[in-house]
Amino acid sequence: MDKLHRFLIDDANVRGEWVQLDKAWQALTDCADYPAPVRQMLGEAFAAVALLSATIKYKGTLVIQVNGGNPLSMLVVQATSEGKMRGMARWSDDIDVEATVPNLFGKEATLVITVEPEEGQGERYQSIVGLEGNTLAECLTAYFEQSEQLKTRLELAVGETSVAGLMVQRLPGTAEDEDGWNRTRMLAETVKTDELLTLDVETLLHRLFHEENLRLYDAEALGFECGCSQKKVDDMLIGLGRKEAQETLREQGKIEVTCDFCNTHYQVDEIDLERIFSETVIEGNDSIH
Ligand SMILES: [Zn+2]
Repeated sequence: MDKLHRFLIDDANVRGEWVQLDKAWQALTDCADYPAPVRQMLGEAFAAVALLSATIKYKGTLVIQVNGGNPLSMLVVQATSEGKMRGMARWSDDIDVEATVPNLFGKEATLVITVEPEEGQGERYQSIVGLEGNTLAECLTAYFEQSEQLKTRLELAVGETSVAGLMVQRLPGTAEDEDGWNRTRMLAETVKTDELLTLDVETLLHRLFHEENLRLYDAEALGFECGCSQKKVDDMLIGLGRKEAQETLREQGKIEVTCDFCNTHYQVDEIDLERIFSETVIEGNDSIH
């Protein structure tokens, strides 16, 4: 089952999260034939976005995106505060390197973290930083230190059919407790990839932190859910404008849109187009935006 657990280590002033994704990861990888190094990086990002999304304090979506890299030119993963996840990557052909950040993204890429709140749920937040580290976990650790001033440690694992992650983070406002933080961080770093992928949360946390006073919270469910729809395709065409849409239709016979995340295929013909634009007129101009 795909789930996330939060935990708290009171005596060390540290909070943590653990995630294992099985069905959601398989649904994501069913959508495209990712080469092994891309799959590895995407899997790390997928586990990471689940962990980070659980830190949002209001309803919204957290997005981790890497732009402009080479040969991995774009990677994006998203998770909502309700646990709906999706992700994808674009790459150039012939990737046959070890899946490190410098190998896949090169020197020019940027890491963009965005929190999109649901309407009426607070401010949109975005942070753009360079990729500093050999692994995605290191880059995200650097991001937390730079942008959030929060000591954080992430461990990410990608297996054949699942991905998993562990995060520990010093509680805000407890900077004086270096000992508690250092002890917890070092224990977290001892976790092995196969332990993350195969152990249940109780066993894993007991193995790592059995000398600590740890509180484990109830599981939160996660799953792959794209969120694309015919309505969004309609809205995109409305944004394009009637004239443009009709021209495209005339040139190509039909308008076809395939979702980059889930491969769902949307098709719009002349009758659909009439419907889309006549509905817009009835609803009035306000609905266009
Ligand atoms: Zn989709």
